[in-house]
Amino acid sequence: METFRKSRRTFIRNAGITGAALPLLGPVQAINEFTNAISMEKKKDKLGVALVGLGGYATGQLAPALQQTTHCYLAGIVTGSPEKIPVWQGKYGIPDKNVYNYGNFDSIRDNPDIDIIYVVLPNSLHAEYTIRAFAAGKHVICEKPMAITVEDCDRMLAASKKAGKQLSIGYRLHFEPFNLEMARLGSKQVYGKLSSMEGAFGFKAQAGQWRLDKKMAGGGPLMDLGIYVVQGLCYTSGMEPISVTALEGAKTDPARFPDVEQSLSWTFSFPGKLEGKGTASYDDSFNFLRATAEKGMIELKPAYNYGGQRGTTPEGPMTFPNVNQQARQMDAFAQSVKSNTPTIVPGELGKRDVKYLQAIYEAMASGKTVKIPG
Ligand code: NDP
Repeated sequence: METFRKSRRTFIRNAGITGAALPLLGPVQAINEFTNAISMEKKKDKLGVALVGLGGYATGQLAPALQQTTHCYLAGIVTGSPEKIPVWQGKYGIPDKNVYNYGNFDSIRDNPDIDIIYVVLPNSLHAEYTIRAFAAGKHVICEKPMAITVEDCDRMLAASKKAGKQLSIGYRLHFEPFNLEMARLGSKQVYGKLSSMEGAFGFKAQAGQWRLDKKMAGGGPLMDLGIYVVQGLCYTSGMEPISVTALEGAKTDPARFPDVEQSLSWTFSFPGKLEGKGTASYDDSFNFLRATAEKGMIELKPAYNYGGQRGTTPEGPMTFPNVNQQARQMDAFAQSVKSNTPTIVPGELGKRDVKYLQAIYEAMASGKTVKIPG
């Protein structure tokens, strides 16, 4: 309410309208002009984000997070489900002119309200919509994994370069204090040299969704969940793996997993003989990241959730506030765009991880050690 009063005062001041003159506008006209003024005020300092694909993550996390952001706001939606439109418009006040479907998506180029397109579609569609968004002259955040092949990542990076617009990946944990502390303690060797690392992420996935379809997802739990562990092992060590071995878990439910793995484990070799073991599963609950250092163990458990992380060090528990990871992530990108400075989670990082995921699958299929080119 206070915000409303302040905005109304600002509108009246900016419009040069005195309190006495205000009643001269009809009530509907006054409200419309007032709403336009607020939206103009907002646009001046906040970048407009359009979410593409209104599924679980966009609905449950990203749209609510965009109500808490300072540098960007939810300006538009792109959906193939007409029944979702009135629900989203009712909840978030999105005007008709900022609503698109997959057919008319490219005309978003003519919409100055939209600065950033956030691709939240099934993995196999990331490349197409990112490239189309760049062709429309917009900046892009693309969800993880960046794409299902390294070649697609290259095409996305080329499109970003050609458009002169930034590409960021939805790596929310790079904005989460417990994970940032894990990265600091491990990579700076605060408790001495690391001798081993391990991480695992898993949950029971329901049958019949795109995540279990190789064409749509590019793989199974490794693409969806293992990517967090891959990242965790890299930022905890502060290094890049040089080779990998991998083993597929037993398929105890082959009907549910006709063409993707049910679970798998891999071991990265890092420089200095450090090993990092990872597990991803669509059948068991795992959620941790740990490293053993000379002076003891550092651990996050849970490590990868949207909130509620817990961490321990040889000196006791970590204490950090819970934050809205997605709001921080999107605000940081909006600031990068505004200030024309690089994002800390760029497309190049997304491509690196897709390269690691492909190497893990190659190691799993061949049963051999696969070297990872630098
Ligand atoms: P959902 O299945 O819940 O939603 C995907 C949405 O994409 C659908 O609701 C639909 O939206 C749209 N869509 C368009 N074409 C298709 C199609 N052929 N099949 C299915 N959906 C389609 O997935 P999530 O929201 O969970 O995941 C989306 C992306 O976000 C994935 O890449 C995933 O990896 C990532 N993700 C990231 C998370 C993170 O923490 N960073 C967490 C969860 C997901 P519409 O009806 O509006 O067209």
